[in-house]
Parts: sequence; structure tokens; C-alpha cells
Amino acid sequence: MTETRPLSGLPQGDWPVFPPGLVWLLGAGPGDPGLLTLHGLNALRQADVIVYDALVDTRILDWRRPDATIEYAGKRGGKPSPLQRSISLRLVELARAGHRVLRLKGGDPFVFGRGGEEAQTLVSAGIPIRVTPGITAGIGGLAYAGIPATHRDINQAVTFLTGHDASGDTPAGIDWEALARSSPVIVMYMAIKHLDQITQRLIAAGREPAEPVAIVTNATLPDMRVLETTLGTAAADIAAHGIEPPAIICIGRVTLFRQTLDWIAQLAGEPPRSLDPLGLAASRADTA
Ligand code: SAH
Repeated sequence: MTETRPLSGLPQGDWPVFPPGLVWLLGAGPGDPGLLTLHGLNALRQADVIVYDALVDTRILDWRRPDATIEYAGKRGGKPSPLQRSISLRLVELARAGHRVLRLKGGDPFVFGRGGEEAQTLVSAGIPIRVTPGITAGIGGLAYAGIPATHRDINQAVTFLTGHDASGDTPAGIDWEALARSSPVIVMYMAIKHLDQITQRLIAAGREPAEPVAIVTNATLPDMRVLETTLGTAAADIAAHGIEPPAIICIGRVTLFRQTLDWIAQLAGEPPRSLDPLGLAASRADTA
């Protein structure tokens, strides 16, 4: 059983106590610190040591206990990293030394973040863990761009894809024909580098070059940028606009809803570009 207690600064209720020797895997969300969960804040308030990744917004670290120590375990670039093993072993070491160890990861720890691997190492070593999910960039980042990952009129499925496999190449395990046929919306992480190959494969597998694509960089952060393009022109556009990671790439007609739902622009005073960017009102009237 988990011990709980009320915690000042958090809503009334009993919150899990962070016992020494436990590693708490926590998703920090895609950037905007406000997207951290209340369990996350509770964990931060109690941790002795925080081991955090490159994509974690460091403003979140300001909410730690004043005497907590922080360790950076970042790596970028999507290459298989020899560091991964040493990060896991460092977590084991810190836990065995009796610390309350917070492993803070960008987005959700179990979505393309190797949180699963770290958790496996910890459990194998007999270290108790707790896992708190975070808002993943592929959903939360799109929401900040005014793009719903699903919409009843467009897609009944969405696929999350990594832009490279464990060897750093375009993912080998994907059946591109099946993907192109079955998933009206494809949301890609870490896909900038291989976007040229990925878009060519999808087009070869039957997707329209004119299909709309949105590329969201630094999603949820003040310097967020959204590039609206198409499957056929996305790779060239990335080069032309000097787009750099981190970026979420969304392929599919849901991206057009941004013309109506770009709430950040609207809060800044801009009117919506269109109230019916997909022409759905007309088709609804037809079938009514
Ligand atoms: N666990 C994370 C993903 C880690 S992989 C999650 O659930 O979100 C790292 C990739 O996530 C980046 O290359 C990028 O594709 C995406 N990503 C993370 N944060 C992002 C952000 N603020 N804006 C755009 N993409 C982001």
C-alpha cells in the first residue's frame, strides 16, 4: 500500500508519499510547465534528486524542493546512445543510496522516450518504481497548434510513428502500404531527419502528395512555430525554412482544422481563417 498525506499547495486530498529508495518516472509534458500533472508537482516537491532530459522545460525544476539536487541526463539527435544504459544504472545507484529519485522525462515517459527500458532495468534491479504519465507532444503539441489528433468526421484511427528505429535509420519495421491504407492521420516524432524518405514512401504507398501536413516545432512553448505544408512539399519546406527539432509532424486532413481552431492566434486577436475548412457543412447538409 502507498502511504498518502495532504500536501500544502496541492488541492485537498491525500497525495502519495515519495519513499526513499524509490524511482518515480514522471512525464513533464511537451513544454509549457502548466501541463505538468498534480502527481508530478507532488513528486517534484518531495524528490531528493531529479534526473532530467533535454526536452524537459527547466522552469518545471524551479518547483523542486530547495535542497534537491538536479542531474542532466540529456541526449539529442535520435542516435542510439551508449548513455542510455548508464542513465539507467545511475538511477539504480541513486535509489540504492537511499534517495528519492525523480526521473523527469519530456512528454510521456512511455511514449518514444525509453522510459520503458529504464523501468525494466529498475525493476530487474529490485528497485521500486512509480510511473506518472505526461501529456505527449504528439497530442498536446498538436492541440496547441489547433489540431485535434482525431475528429469524428475525419479519422477513426491515428498512428504514432517514430522517424527512426533503434539503429537511427528510417524505421524498418513499418509496413508502409498498410500504414498508408489504414491510418488517415499519422503523427510523427523525431522525423525531421528522414522526412524526405518517409514522405516518399507514403506517396509510393498511395497517399496523395497534396495531403495536408503540419509541422509543429517547440510545441506549447512561446517560440512555437507551425508550418502548414503538404506531403509532397514537406521535406523541401523543412530545408527552405530551416526547421529544426524538436518537431511533431502531423499528416492528414485533421491539420486543416487549424484554420478554425488556432486558438492562440485567436486569443491574440486574429479571426479564424475559415469556419469550415473541410467543407463539412455542405456534406452534412447533403446527407441530412
Ligand atoms: N516522450 C516524449 C517524446 C520523446 S522523443 C513525448 O511523449 O512527447 C522526442 C521527440 O518528441 C522530438 O524529437 C519531437 O518529435 C517530439 N517533441 C517533444 N517535445 C516537443 C515539443 N515541445 N515540440 C515539438 N516536438 C516535440
